[in-house]
Amino acid sequence: AKRDPDQPQFKNTVSKVLESVIPVLEAHPEFKEQKILERIIEPERVITFRVPWQDDKGEVHVNRGFRVQMSSAIGPYKGGLRFHPSVNLDILKFLAFEQVFKNALSGLPIGGAKGGSDFDPHGKSDNEVMHFCQSFMTELYRHIGPDVDVPAGDIGVGGREVGYLYGQYKRIRDSYDAGVLTGKRVDYWGSLARTEATGYGLLYFVKNMLDAKDISLKDKTVVVSGSGNVATYAIEKAQAFGAKVVTCSDSNGYVYDPNGIDLAAVKEIKQVRRGRIKEYVETHPQAEYHEGCKGVWTVKCDVALPCATQGEIDLESAKALVANGVIAVGEGANMPSTLDAIAYFQQNKVLFAPGKAANAGGVSVSALEMAQNSERLQWTFEEVDGKLQDIMANIYKNAKANAEKYADPDDLVAGANITAFVKVANVMLAHGLV
Ligand code: NDP
Repeated sequence: AKRDPDQPQFKNTVSKVLESVIPVLEAHPEFKEQKILERIIEPERVITFRVPWQDDKGEVHVNRGFRVQMSSAIGPYKGGLRFHPSVNLDILKFLAFEQVFKNALSGLPIGGAKGGSDFDPHGKSDNEVMHFCQSFMTELYRHIGPDVDVPAGDIGVGGREVGYLYGQYKRIRDSYDAGVLTGKRVDYWGSLARTEATGYGLLYFVKNMLDAKDISLKDKTVVVSGSGNVATYAIEKAQAFGAKVVTCSDSNGYVYDPNGIDLAAVKEIKQVRRGRIKEYVETHPQAEYHEGCKGVWTVKCDVALPCATQGEIDLESAKALVANGVIAVGEGANMPSTLDAIAYFQQNKVLFAPGKAANAGGVSVSALEMAQNSERLQWTFEEVDGKLQDIMANIYKNAKANAEKYADPDDLVAGANITAFVKVANVMLAHGLV
């Protein structure tokens, strides 16, 4: 606390995670002796740099670039780049810390990092975004590499930005090195099934969690929030498992379709036309559109899948879901449930799948993208999807086993934190004092 007085988000996240690993420290005195806690919360390296660029009118701007290389214990640093005005060191350190745990859960050889800039791509022309990305990579290139640090997209960094960043890296390095970035387009060595991976992975995780209680997803009513990448493929896989998904949303409001969401129509509106979700009711008169996002959690359901944004389920929404008899909540988004909402779900015996574990399918397939790039091959969709199913099953199994060993047997929040911590801590011990 004395070292980072200006980093409240980082300190909150760290203290919550560390609380849940206390039972492990008691069982492993060597973790205490070797100061694993003190070491794991200190980034291995933090890089900040100047990013000057010129807009279309010739005006010069200066943004700040960051890369927080948190842990390389189990593999090259790995984590997304975020371009958003809210980006600062506090936020990136907390995201990088979380990423170390998520990546460890994947069971794949990836460490943890996060980076980005306070640059806002909204309202910028393609040309301006390209100039910014080129300037950003002109400094970042010296700190990354396929065996060193492998960034990916995050908020504000999609396929377009990954393309510009990769183009500049390739030009400076004079080397193809496709494995230096993930989330690439398939025609320049991205992975098939990466687009679907987070949403599909969420459903694989939730299915494992329900199967363990002999509950089938078939004919269950599911409420999904969002209509972006994660939500779209969560809906697709939930429907494939025989569930009836009755909602989806965007940042303006939500749609309730008693007949079940017509996903082809959602894709047409959001992916093809880049429209608003309220347009759904124009072609589906039986459906209702409601302004505002919070109301989606008042829709009666068996399973709730928040796939839009952080903090979207607060205590009031959690109470509404429980009052309506929700059995399970699976987090597709990053930290969509507030801490008091999670506590309420757990007190009321709702099966709760934390995002750190349940949405790890995305980064897992990114690690598979690195593997494909290393062998200069591209696997089929089915091959990647098959591996994703195994990865999600293992994440569930390990989190459950540690919940049973150290905490409440259904507390997958503690189970996931403990699984990841023990894995990273053991490797840190093996590497000695570095
Ligand atoms: P997208 O930008 O594709 O979609 C986000 C969706 O959420 C959009 O429908 C957006 O609506 C909606 N939304 C945004 N803000 C709000 C709000 N305040 N209330 C309700 N809806 C809102 O993002 P992704 O689907 O990729 O990501 C969603 C979440 O999942 C994020 O938390 C992300 O960090 C997390 N995540 C994503 C991964 C991935 O692989 N994509 C991997 C792991 C986690 P609108 O159309 O109006 O903007």
